[in-house]
Amino acid sequence: MAKTIGILGGGQLGRMLSMAAARLGVKTHIFEPLPNPPAGDVASKVTTADYSDEDALKAFAMSVDVVTYEFENIPTEALDIIESFCPVYPGRNALETSQDRLAEKRFLEGIGLSVAPYAQIDSLKDLEGALEEIGVPAILKTRRFGYDGKGQFKIVAKNQAVEAFDSIKGAPAVLEGFVRFEREISIIAARNKNGEISSFDPGENIHLDGTLHSTTVPASLSHALQTDAVLLAARVLNALDYIGVMGVELFVTQNGLTVNEIAPRVHNSGHWTQNACLIDQFEQHIRAVLGEPLGDGQRHSDSVMTNLIGEDVNHLEKFNNYALHLYGKADIKAGRKMGHINQISPKST
Ligand code: AMP
Repeated sequence: MAKTIGILGGGQLGRMLSMAAARLGVKTHIFEPLPNPPAGDVASKVTTADYSDEDALKAFAMSVDVVTYEFENIPTEALDIIESFCPVYPGRNALETSQDRLAEKRFLEGIGLSVAPYAQIDSLKDLEGALEEIGVPAILKTRRFGYDGKGQFKIVAKNQAVEAFDSIKGAPAVLEGFVRFEREISIIAARNKNGEISSFDPGENIHLDGTLHSTTVPASLSHALQTDAVLLAARVLNALDYIGVMGVELFVTQNGLTVNEIAPRVHNSGHWTQNACLIDQFEQHIRAVLGEPLGDGQRHSDSVMTNLIGEDVNHLEKFNNYALHLYGKADIKAGRKMGHINQISPKST
């Protein structure tokens, strides 16, 4: 019988995972609190229920062979219920580490990787003290529930402590020293239960207003740093005994690579793989969570992925020769990811 993968979250990542699964003859069942999720159009089944709905979670878990997720802010209580019926990949270890910026930084440091200077912030006093130590510019980030630059405040002068603390409503946070990076890159890599690892080439990312705008591959990076990025990703995956695809965001500095954050899922900066690799990040993730051998992540083309945010989706005339990926979202809203395009050209390096 065809296998079914349960996916927590019904956004565009769940949609593209479902499409990759379908190509492999695998069904997906989406669990999403909001009605009419983008993934719902292409999945075999959708459950519309809250992550606190125990009955719905049980029925969902009993209807699938394995559960994965497309975003990391899943309450641990929901996992407790699901895990008594079927495995969840990537595992809890990876999820819990990446849900909390402080735990994540400690983990990364613990395996010998470089992170921005940081301090734990639980009070205004902590923040004032940390600003003395770390200096400005610095970024105050909530420990949990931040994405696309949300839950962050850039502090450029020490007298902004109160304003910054108020802006995150006094939530538990970390203060990060500002990294003077030359460029931002990310590396997308997969690992399966046999410990097999396959990495895609690092991509160079441009962010606008804290949101990814484009990813270009190859990144302008020395061969040595490309290798460093691959080895670094493998170290993270092995340390977490990870199963699935992970996105690792990195700053390239004069002293090498500094980790910004890890995402235990397929990643926006890996969308270029859909048109520039034989096996893309979505298929790789499906293979990994099903315990299948990984595909070859080699790239056959150079690629530029550009996000279509809000009204961008109505201004495609400025691009030519692209593969269009739309997410089927009904309403255009400012800042909303509506789709992306991938442009490819013959492989240069
Ligand atoms: P994040 O949500 O943590 O990924 O941050 C979003 C973007 O803000 C990053 O991709 C960077 O462009 C910028 N950023 C975040 N943290 C730092 C930092 N410590 N130093 C410099 N830039 C940062």
